[in-house]
Amino acid sequence: MSLMFKTALTAAEVKAKAIELGADLVGIADGKVLDAHPPYPADPRRPSDITEHDAGRVIVLAKKLNSGVARILAWNDRHKYYNDELALTMLEESSLELVYWLEDQGYPAIIVPPTHVDPWRYDDDPAQHMTTLLSLPHAAVEAGLGTLGLNLQLLTPQYGPRVVLTAVLCTVEVECDTRMKEALCLGPECGRCLKTCPPDAVKAWDRDWPACDTHRSPYGFAKLAGHIESLIGAATAEQRRELLRSETTFNLWQSILRGAGAITGCRRCADVCPIGADYEAMLKDAVDAIPENTPAKESRLAAMVGDAGAGSAGYDAQSRWIGELKFYPRVAAGD
Ligand code: SF4
Ligand code: SF4
Repeated sequence: MSLMFKTALTAAEVKAKAIELGADLVGIADGKVLDAHPPYPADPRRPSDITEHDAGRVIVLAKKLNSGVARILAWNDRHKYYNDELALTMLEESSLELVYWLEDQGYPAIIVPPTHVDPWRYDDDPAQHMTTLLSLPHAAVEAGLGTLGLNLQLLTPQYGPRVVLTAVLCTVEVECDTRMKEALCLGPECGRCLKTCPPDAVKAWDRDWPACDTHRSPYGFAKLAGHIESLIGAATAEQRRELLRSETTFNLWQSILRGAGAITGCRRCADVCPIGADYEAMLKDAVDAIPENTPAKESRLAAMVGDAGAGSAGYDAQSRWIGELKFYPRVAAGD
């Protein structure tokens, strides 16, 4: 085996390369810090679980989602799915180019995409919520890109939650970024993510993930399995034929073809979030009103106000990544 000479690199050089390759935001986290602070200790999913050799740094890349589709109000508009899928494809290609560049400098590297889940965790239940091998929103917080919001979406100062993420694992000894200390999220007094959510999946610093999955992956594996079950169980050949030719089959086909509607889907909570420098200029006029809001959602939010700060289970479990709240008595985020 030939040993490759390692080029000395700085964090600024790595970030400049990632931006040159198409990323909009880049941050670098220490793999050991992520190892020491898994966001869900009962199910740790650490960088070192992916590779014991090359996870010294977690380089998190973000690509902004375009504003034009955020301005379309219907959560299930396929233009949204396709535009987001194209943004993700571009970011994945940028990440792969970064990996090749790092390896040309002598540093083996690995992409962690936002869509890849561990098949060994699947328990023969299509409705089961499947998670990525590393939580990219949490990694992005550790890499200094933003903080988590009420439904645990990543908020960035530049684009709010309207970004897709990948991570590149690489043991390149460059300086790491630090977490933002103050929360960007405006909390339940804003609550726009909860007001808009079609399946009402937003909780206090948490999310009903299986409910969200029905919308953020509307033509994903659960839909495919259910549709095939319906086909198998149809009483007559004519009913089977109708199901085969239905719009659902057509949408499933389109989603298998491109991923749009399977790995991209609802993002109404991101579209209406007022955080991000892009919101006032690009979105507010179109998304200010929230047609999905209901009196029941308003009541739930009202009950949350004053009851979702430090000491509440939801906040305390995620305070390290949410940051210090500006609207409740301040608490120190976890070290
Ligand atoms: S992605 Fe859609 S379903 Fe999921 S939390 Fe956001 S608004 Fe709700
Ligand atoms: S919509 Fe409001 S409450 Fe929800 S994440 Fe954004 S700032 Fe926080």
